[in-house]
Amino acid sequence: MRVAVVGSGPSGVYTAQGLVEQERVPDVRVDVLDRLPCPYGLVRYGVAPDHEKIKSLQGNLRGVLEHERVRFLGGVEVGPGAVPPARLLDCYHAVVYCVGAATDRRLGVPGEDLPGSFSATEFVSWYSAHPDSAAGGFGPPDRFVRGVQSAVVIGVGNVAVDVARMLVRGVPELLPTDMPHEALGVLGASRVRVVHMVGRRGPSQARFTTKELRELGGLPDTDVTVDPAELARDPAYADPSGLPAAARRNVEVLRGWAGRGERAGPARRVRLRFYLRPVEVLQAAGRVGGVRFERTLPDGRGGVTGTGSHEDVPAQLVLRSVGYRGVPIEGLPFDAGSGTVPHAAGRVLRDGAVSPGEYVAGWIKRGPTGVIGTNRPCARETVQSLLDDSAALARRAVAAEPLDVLRAAGAEPVEWAGWLGIERAEAELGRSLGRRTVKLAEWEALRRAAGLGVPGSGVPGGRPSASSSNAGQA
Ligand code: NAP
Repeated sequence: MRVAVVGSGPSGVYTAQGLVEQERVPDVRVDVLDRLPCPYGLVRYGVAPDHEKIKSLQGNLRGVLEHERVRFLGGVEVGPGAVPPARLLDCYHAVVYCVGAATDRRLGVPGEDLPGSFSATEFVSWYSAHPDSAAGGFGPPDRFVRGVQSAVVIGVGNVAVDVARMLVRGVPELLPTDMPHEALGVLGASRVRVVHMVGRRGPSQARFTTKELRELGGLPDTDVTVDPAELARDPAYADPSGLPAAARRNVEVLRGWAGRGERAGPARRVRLRFYLRPVEVLQAAGRVGGVRFERTLPDGRGGVTGTGSHEDVPAQLVLRSVGYRGVPIEGLPFDAGSGTVPHAAGRVLRDGAVSPGEYVAGWIKRGPTGVIGTNRPCARETVQSLLDDSAALARRAVAAEPLDVLRAAGAEPVEWAGWLGIERAEAELGRSLGRRTVKLAEWEALRRAAGLGVPGSGVPGGRPSASSSNAGQA
C-alpha cells in the first residue's frame, strides 16, 4: 500500500513513522510531501533558533525520513494552482493531510494593519529564514526593529514568549544559532529597550508553559518585571492551590518576580502585563505609536469583563501573538469556525460522511494547541483508523509512479539528496561566516542548493543524482 503524507512537520513525520513501524499491514510505503524543499515544518521554521534542544528533535525526525520505505518529496504544493487533492488519490491509496495551521489569527481592532504592526508569525518566519519571508514585497530586512525602543507583544502564549525573548537577545547568544546572518545583524544592532507582553486575562489563565516563562528571568542583561497589584486581581494569585499544576507553577514564578521589584542595572526589560484587552493600535506619524488597552477584571468564570477605563502603552512595534489558524485546502472540506478539517478519529468527513482514503493529523485536525509531543498520540489515532480501513483502501488501483503524476501536475519534487544538498550549502555558509550551520533564507539559494533550476537566472536544472529511495543517502 502506498500512502502520501502531506506536510513534513512533526505530525506528518510521526504519521509516516506509525505507518512504517507497524506490522499489521506489511510493506506500507510512504511519500512525505512538503511545499518547501526542506523538511521538518515548524521544528525548522517555528521553534526559536535559541531553543537548540527542541531543534535537535530534527535528528529524530530525520531518522524517519531516511527509513527505507519513506521518501521525502519537497517542493510539492497541494492545493490551488498546484497538485489538487483528487490527483493525489490517483496515485496513492490514502492521503494524510498534516498541513498544520498556516496563518495567524487577527485581533479585529482598528490600526491592526498600520506599518510597524505585524503578526508574530511574520517575525518568526523572518528570523527562522522562511523563504516566503524574504520573497520580496515585505519591506527592508530591518523593518521589524528600525527605530524601535518599545515593543508590545499581544498575547501570553509560548509564541509571545519566543518573540519577546528574541527581541531582547544579544549577539553573543544569537551567534551560535542557525538564524540567517542578516537577521542576526539586525537584531544585534536593535535598540529595543522594553518589551511589554500583555494578556487580556489574568496570570493563572496565561497559556505559556513554565519552562518558557522561567527562561525569561534568566536572560543576560534583561530584567523581567510584573506589577504585584495587577497580579493580585486574579483570585487564584492569593491562593493558587486549586489551579491545575501548570498554571500553579506559572503563578509561583510570577510571584517570585513580584517580590523582588525592578532592578536598575539591566539594559533591557520585559514587562509582563495582565488584564489589558487591546482595543486599538494607535498611530503616530503614519505608523504604530502605541496600543490602547481597556483594563479588564475577572468575571469569576475564567473570563473577563471590560471596565471602561483605558491605558495607552507607547510602542513603535506591535507583534500580535494571538494564536495560529488553519487554512482551507481547495478540494478538502473545512470548518471555518475552528479552522480545521472535519474528521472522525482522523478520517476526513465530507458532509458528515467519511471520505474514503483521506485523513488528517496534527493542527489541521485538532487546532493549533499542544507541544510537539502532542502530535504523537494524534498521529497514532489517525494511523490506527487508516490501518483499520486498509483492506478496502488497498483494493483501489493507483498510478504506477507518483513522481510522474506529480511532475505532470507541475511539481518539481526535491528528493532527499536535494535536501542533503541544502544541508551541505548551509554548513558551508556557516563555515564561511565563522559560524555553525546558517540557514539559507531565499528561495533561489534553496533551489540552487537542491539542484533545481532557478527560473529566469539561466542556472541549469541539474537534478541531484538520487535513487527514488532515501536509504543510504545520508
Ligand atoms: P496560544 O497558546 O493559543 O496563546 C494565544 C494567546 O493569545 C493567549 O494568551 C490568548 O489569550 C491570546 N489572545 C487570543 N485572542 C486574543 C485577542 N483577541 N486579544 C488579546 N489576546 C488574545 O497560541 P501560541 O502562543 O501561538 O501557541 C500555539 C501553540 O504552539 C501552543 O500550543 C504553544 O504551547 C505551542 N508552542 C510551544 C512552544 C514551546 O513549547 N516552546 C513554542 C511556541 C509555541 P486567551 O487565553 O485569553 O484567549
